[in-house]
Amino acid sequence: MSYDLKITGGTIVDGTGAPRYRGDVGIEDGRVVALGVAPGEAATTIDATGRIVSPGFVDIHTHYDAQIMWDNLVSCSPWHGVTTVVMGNCGFSVAPTRPEHRDLIMRTLENVEGMSVDALRAGLGDDWGFESFPEYLDAVERRGCAVNVAALCGHTALRMYVMGEESVARDATADEVAAQRALLREALEAGALGFATSKAGTHVGYDGNPVPSRLADPAEIAEIAQAIGEVPNAVMQATVGRGLSHDEFAAIAEATGRNVSWTALLSGVPRQDYREELAKAAAVQARGLPVYPQVAVQPVQFEMSWTAPFIYESLRCFQPVAKSDLDGRKAYYADPDWRATFKEKAGNGGIIGDRWARTTISWYPLDPSLEGDNVQELADAKGQDPVDLVLDLALDADLDMRITQDVINYDRDDIEVLLSDPTTVIGLSDAGAHASQLCDAKYSTEFLSTFVRDRGAFTLEQGVHMLTKRPADVFGITDRGTLAEGRPADVVVFDADEVGHLGKRRVNDLPAGADRIISDAVGIDAVVVNGTVIRQDGVDRVEPGPGLPGALLRNGRA
Ligand SMILES: [Zn+2]
Repeated sequence: MSYDLKITGGTIVDGTGAPRYRGDVGIEDGRVVALGVAPGEAATTIDATGRIVSPGFVDIHTHYDAQIMWDNLVSCSPWHGVTTVVMGNCGFSVAPTRPEHRDLIMRTLENVEGMSVDALRAGLGDDWGFESFPEYLDAVERRGCAVNVAALCGHTALRMYVMGEESVARDATADEVAAQRALLREALEAGALGFATSKAGTHVGYDGNPVPSRLADPAEIAEIAQAIGEVPNAVMQATVGRGLSHDEFAAIAEATGRNVSWTALLSGVPRQDYREELAKAAAVQARGLPVYPQVAVQPVQFEMSWTAPFIYESLRCFQPVAKSDLDGRKAYYADPDWRATFKEKAGNGGIIGDRWARTTISWYPLDPSLEGDNVQELADAKGQDPVDLVLDLALDADLDMRITQDVINYDRDDIEVLLSDPTTVIGLSDAGAHASQLCDAKYSTEFLSTFVRDRGAFTLEQGVHMLTKRPADVFGITDRGTLAEGRPADVVVFDADEVGHLGKRRVNDLPAGADRIISDAVGIDAVVVNGTVIRQDGVDRVEPGPGLPGALLRNGRA
């Protein structure tokens, strides 16, 4: 027997949690055809001596819906060993979208994905080439992708499609709910992985409006979600918020018999004990209901500028700020009355005032010596409230300033408790979103370096399982997540002693020259998708364009 590709001499960790063993992998026609012993010759061989050979990682929480239309290498997830991505999370799919609503959808994505609308317009073009969700899936498939892709159909897009601009203003009528349910059914029959929605107060769209799904009452969400029960293997992802929590997830899982995964169970949330939330989630699962909270391996850390103050936009006092131009924003920031309102929440003693101790100045061209300084310490030294300190600095610099803040989930001991709980699943990389504010696409290398190697919280077998089979199972992705004979050959070869990342760096490589933050990986030797080496030694081995090896996973499988 001969192979297209052979990976020799490595230690195989197969994703099931089973003990590692030394062995070779033979790959032909995109599938693993020999595992453990692979005696045949191969056209290409990768020497994995001293390395771990595992299934490719499955990232269930990305936002590549728009980016994939101009960057079908979906950088930088594959750099970190990811071979399958789920997009459409939080309800932010780009289909179905009527041509006349394209601008509103882009301006919504601008806010929730931290990507300039110029980049989105340049990247998507005037004619997107799709309107319905089935057309979108066809467009993604035609363009191809370096990694495998599964797509959720989003509530924000459905609502905008059916209700237009009123989707950000009012309840849906019974007919409008029925229309959304029918559109979701159409999407699922064409291969959508499931339904996604969000009630998160942080999800603010164009002109400071809530994103459309936030206007939905629980009954609307439950009614639309019925469609996932009608199509085999469909799932639901939901971002928790007022009126959408444990009880509602349990009811949907019970009514549909389908997996519901929610985003996210995080530590360090003001006025919330994450252990109580874990107990509630465990109680739902104890009733036999497949409801899975997603947990994040990293602090939720944002870099923001005062021209796009994402971190604070859910505060009421920022609603008029979001609708203002640069001069208007500066006027609010200078106004003592407005500041007094902001300080009630975010000043010293306010409910989120403690965050300044986790905030640094990360960009300040007017005085670069301040970069890296802690905001609370600077304020204490000057005897000022930190709100006054940062806003004065911002105004002095004509708002050309950025701060970096660990918003929540900042304590690694707490994160370890969440990761260790059998109720949870790793999610919330948010890859592709918040492009100018963070890069958590590195979640896999962060997890392997911090929690598996440095903290020793998990064995390598457990850790690989948590990045592969576990998320695939929760999201109904049936042909990924394990290495086994006959299965598609999605493989990562990595050095367990070296795997990690180099933090973050800002680049200007988005369409129209817009900026984003990326993260480089270390210790990832090779990434293989359906038998094709897409990256090796930190370099892409495939070209953007047609012929890429990733498959569109319709209904969770190729
Ligand atoms: Zn999201």
